[in-house]
Amino acid sequence: MKRNYYEILGVPRDAADADIKKAYRKLALQYHPDRTNGDKTSEEKFKEINEAYSVLGNPDKRSSYDMYGDNFERIGTGHEDIFGGSIFEDLIGDVFSDFFGGRRSSRNRKVRGKDVEAVLELEFEQAVMGIEKEFNIKRTGVCDACSGTGAKPGTKPNTCRTCGGAGQVNYRQGFLTVTKTCRVCNGSGYEIPDKCRDCSGTGRVLKEETIKVHIPPGVDNDSVLRIQGKGSEGYNGGPAGDLHVIIKVKDHPVFKRDGQDIIVDIFISYAQAILGDAIKVHTLYGEEELKIPAGTDSGEVFVLKHKGVSSPYDKRKGDQIIRIHIEVPKHITDRQKELLKEFDEISRIYSKNNSKGVFDKVKDLFQ
Ligand SMILES: [Zn+2]
Ligand SMILES: [Zn+2]
Repeated sequence: MKRNYYEILGVPRDAADADIKKAYRKLALQYHPDRTNGDKTSEEKFKEINEAYSVLGNPDKRSSYDMYGDNFERIGTGHEDIFGGSIFEDLIGDVFSDFFGGRRSSRNRKVRGKDVEAVLELEFEQAVMGIEKEFNIKRTGVCDACSGTGAKPGTKPNTCRTCGGAGQVNYRQGFLTVTKTCRVCNGSGYEIPDKCRDCSGTGRVLKEETIKVHIPPGVDNDSVLRIQGKGSEGYNGGPAGDLHVIIKVKDHPVFKRDGQDIIVDIFISYAQAILGDAIKVHTLYGEEELKIPAGTDSGEVFVLKHKGVSSPYDKRKGDQIIRIHIEVPKHITDRQKELLKEFDEISRIYSKNNSKGVFDKVKDLFQ
């Protein structure tokens, strides 16, 4: 359910126009993308506030809204592209003019570029140890040929004849006045008679760039590195957006990761489990000797302190956790069988609670 426009702006239904404008200005400043660092919830809120104000801020639309409530046709405001030139920017420009002095056209407003996402796949060790990584990114930027005007070098854009440079047109639909983004100029307020060939008149081109990123030790799957200023370039000299590098870490055949701990499964024979042994285990930092005490059970866990992964935040190191599994052979020789039977018979004598050996118990089960 959509909230009612008065609730969104936090004003009573009989609020004066000036109070609506004041409430909107306060909220818009609070949730403006330039101030909230691309926070998604704020962005949604900002759109909501603008939608509410595009209706309540206009006396004609407001009275229709009061009369028809939710059946009021919501005006398309081109909200999809929050950083692009659209009708609501004009709206903001209008309200903000009191703050910044003078009316600005959307064409000249500084607008921050969009944030861009890239996925970077790392080998397990690279993520654990950190690495300097070079990779290519694509982002939109100002067309160098026309300096972003969209006009062929040596020519200039003209004021749009359809909207007179306002970027939007009003028309009547029944008793409603509907405002739409100008189709001829897409809200820019300009027409380009001779388009720049490099950008087809858009003023923007896709740019490819190689960047070097320092991946700190300890990044994990789905970690996001934010690289400031490497998103899309801004409009009219506005700042560039940020690049969000999403880390994907490949699986390792031996090591598994659980936060900062490394988990390794080790398989030992039952003889090793019973008699004990000293075995070599792989760690991230080379081989280590691990003493398996006599009488080790399957599922027992040994910890090698500080042989895990450093935290990218505070440099604390995790541990390596070794899980022991006793491997039961599927095929044994007659000689092995003979020795095991003998072993079992002797075991019966020493067994505390079993008068019967393993083989007898199994036989009993099937009788
Ligand atoms: Zn161009
Ligand atoms: Zn126009």
